[in-house]
Amino acid sequence: MMAQYLEIKGRHPDALLFYRMGDFYELFFDDARQAAAALDIALTKRGKHLGEDIAMCGVPQHSSESYLNQLIRKGFRVAVCEQMEDPAEARKRGAKSVVKRDVVRLVTPGTLTEDGLLDARSHNYLAAFAELRGEGAVAWIDVSTGDLSVAACPRAGLGPMLARLSPAEVIAAEAPEDDAALREQIEETGAVLTPLARSAFDSEGAAKRLQDLYAVKSLDAFGAFTRTQLSALGAVIAYVEITQRGRLPMVKPPRLEAPGGAMRIDAATRRNLEITRDMQGGKEASLLRAVDRTVTAAGARLLETRLAAPSTDRALIAARHDAVQALAEDRRLAEDLSDALRAAPEMERALTRLALDRGGPRDLAALRGALARAEDLAALLSGDLPPVLREAARAMEGHDELAATLEDALVAEPPLLLRDGGVIAPGVDEELDDARRLRDEGRGIIAKMQADYAAEAGISALKVKHNNVLGYFIEVSAAHAKKMMEPPLSERFIHRQTLANAVRFTTVDLSDLEARILNAGARAQGIEERIFAQLREQVLSRAVTLSDCARAMAEVDVACSGAALAAQEGWSRPEITPDRAFQITGGRHPVVEQALRRAGDGPFVANDADLSADGEEARPCWLLTGPNMAGKSTFLRQNALIALLAQAGLFVPADSARIGVVDQLFSRVGAADDLARGRSTFMVEMVETAAILNQAGPGALVILDEIGRGTATYDGLSIAWATLEHLHDVNRCRTLFATHYHELTALADRLSGLKNATMSVREWEGEVIFLHEVRPGAADRSYGVQVARLAGLPDAVVGRAREVLDALEAGEREGGRKPKALIDDLPLFAAAPPPPPAPAVAAPAESATLARLAQCAPDDLSPREALELLYELRAAAKAECGAAN
Ligand code: ATP
Repeated sequence: MMAQYLEIKGRHPDALLFYRMGDFYELFFDDARQAAAALDIALTKRGKHLGEDIAMCGVPQHSSESYLNQLIRKGFRVAVCEQMEDPAEARKRGAKSVVKRDVVRLVTPGTLTEDGLLDARSHNYLAAFAELRGEGAVAWIDVSTGDLSVAACPRAGLGPMLARLSPAEVIAAEAPEDDAALREQIEETGAVLTPLARSAFDSEGAAKRLQDLYAVKSLDAFGAFTRTQLSALGAVIAYVEITQRGRLPMVKPPRLEAPGGAMRIDAATRRNLEITRDMQGGKEASLLRAVDRTVTAAGARLLETRLAAPSTDRALIAARHDAVQALAEDRRLAEDLSDALRAAPEMERALTRLALDRGGPRDLAALRGALARAEDLAALLSGDLPPVLREAARAMEGHDELAATLEDALVAEPPLLLRDGGVIAPGVDEELDDARRLRDEGRGIIAKMQADYAAEAGISALKVKHNNVLGYFIEVSAAHAKKMMEPPLSERFIHRQTLANAVRFTTVDLSDLEARILNAGARAQGIEERIFAQLREQVLSRAVTLSDCARAMAEVDVACSGAALAAQEGWSRPEITPDRAFQITGGRHPVVEQALRRAGDGPFVANDADLSADGEEARPCWLLTGPNMAGKSTFLRQNALIALLAQAGLFVPADSARIGVVDQLFSRVGAADDLARGRSTFMVEMVETAAILNQAGPGALVILDEIGRGTATYDGLSIAWATLEHLHDVNRCRTLFATHYHELTALADRLSGLKNATMSVREWEGEVIFLHEVRPGAADRSYGVQVARLAGLPDAVVGRAREVLDALEAGEREGGRKPKALIDDLPLFAAAPPPPPAPAVAAPAESATLARLAQCAPDDLSPREALELLYELRAAAKAECGAAN
């Protein structure tokens, strides 16, 4: 057995080998040590190899999924090795022969199919990057749903592409020399990098592989792929074949993404705008969570895909808006559709598992349930509706026959495993019904036999039992056994086994009956398996139309979700224009608005923006100044999110929006460390700013928040200044630029496309009140000190800061005295801590004069008494001074 183990392990050196032994998967040697540590399970030993103990650990087969899950999450790959024959077969070859085993599947992060290992509401992508003569392409597949896509992608665009897809695993060709830059680029995204032999990327082989997969002579019908794109597609398929050991899931025809078909959004912008993940890496504070009203997992996945890659195709966007509008106007219909969808089980992943021969009775039941709902949905969508909904209805129709077959064939609630039996409904197959009757009657007969034997032997505690070793047997306690082993009972009851407390017997009748019952059970099982396989075949022969149906259901879910959102939140339909307009009235930040509402904190103040970039009067570049905490960042981001939502096919949180297609979206905030990559705050800021200045084209929307803050004041100001000029003169894109450098507002006089805007605040009794209103003009101050006070800085520090600020501002007014000069200007800037507050009576105890002065009550004195007191004090003071001298 060890020889077999080592041979199989030798073929999978980089995976943990789950070696099936009976009801367990066992791991040996180093695999065992790693897995025991990762899973926190006991490490034992078994036998010796080359004189050393063999480390071993194991997990039960029936609960292996949760262990697999933990291992995959920790970055392991697992090769699942099964017994390929019945141990009885092996025994026939000789007592010492080993059961045939082989790896049936490689479980890797990018190729999962089990519900327990997947997040139902997110895609799990496997991506491949191919490069031929400087041209790059990325292909990606969700093995669990069969969605396959490909796009041109130069190496420089790989980071943004992977940030969009967030794949679990990326395959790349093994480089002859180690391509460290590529590896870093991939691993930075958090994906596992899997190198694959270069031969898997060969474009001719790839074309052949794809033709075989789709059983076509030419791939032209799917699109005009470049050789690099074919290479990436071929590599994906080759890897899926490797991991599934030759079995292929149902793979939908590859979708070729047109260059520029999706809004380009790089990783930093995604992080910054918290589109599908928040800063913590979860979904909680993300845009996706705020807008997701879908009721099915497939709908949630589609919505996430749309938000991650908003379209740039005006016609397509408008068609999606039409669907949302129709359902926003007919809330009744939308709610009926959502109710039907809510009751629909997940279909795509069930279909994939069936295709991989990994599907169970519940996958067929899921299809049955989903198809019944699809019929309801199609019926609901029979009215005069926009094309997106009409097409969806068409895809959901025409499955009645299969739905009826499944409905008739399966019991209402089938068990998880086919081998548990009871999957096929009674009345479907006569032979099955017969076999079951015999099997079940057998059980009744056994009960009757037990009663008869008990009476015959006069032992009421006699039982007929069953186990896997003996089959059916009669059991009595040791005390009664003697009687059974003596005539006349011994003639009928044949001794089988003696245990500590019990003795077991059989009879000829019991053995006969057992054979009949077992046969009937096995026969019923065989028939169920046959019918299940037929049903599976029937389903798979319609895989393409079924997956279209699943897709249509997701489409309807996304449209219903958009309509519910629009109706509940009062959002409006944006207009996507062919020019470079950007006019928003009453715009809001969807996430902040909902958070304020949840916290019961005042209403969100809506704001307008007009960054339209065409025409004489165009002012595409806004310079936003204003106090800290006034809402600058919120305003900036809300405009980016409005563009993104609009192009994702949704309505927007605004009274109205006219947006010319945004093909690139950039968003940067100054001052974000990237310590993991060893870059300082300022370095990150500059790298990201450089990316924008080098890449942003006329169709871009750029949002820069506090650029230049991470360095000395004048360096920062100069960089912010030059950046703003470059964006205005060279990039000429729609831009929102927030800054605390009020000096920049003077640029509006010189740059015709620049407009100053500010956040209004009101000052009241030395405190600032944030109005969160954007209005034209420039801010005069930042109110940083007031905000610091609000934040709870100690009074002494706030007081001191105010003194320094006053002195600095006064110095500036008086002709630009440098802080350094002011600092030298003691005592104001002495670094000593402020004096403690004065005690109520400051007089030293020994001064009688001061004591007298402290005691007097000026209000009670007449003018004459006051004068007398003054003379008295002077005399006393003179005396005291004299004494001191
Ligand atoms: P800083 O300069 O300190 O970064 P900021 O001007 O960018 O501040 P934001 O972070 O955008 O300010 O907003 C501060 C807080 O003000 C937000 O967390 C939010 O609670 C509130 N806020 C922002 N905009 C609005 C608005 N339009 N209506 C109501 N509340 C708002």
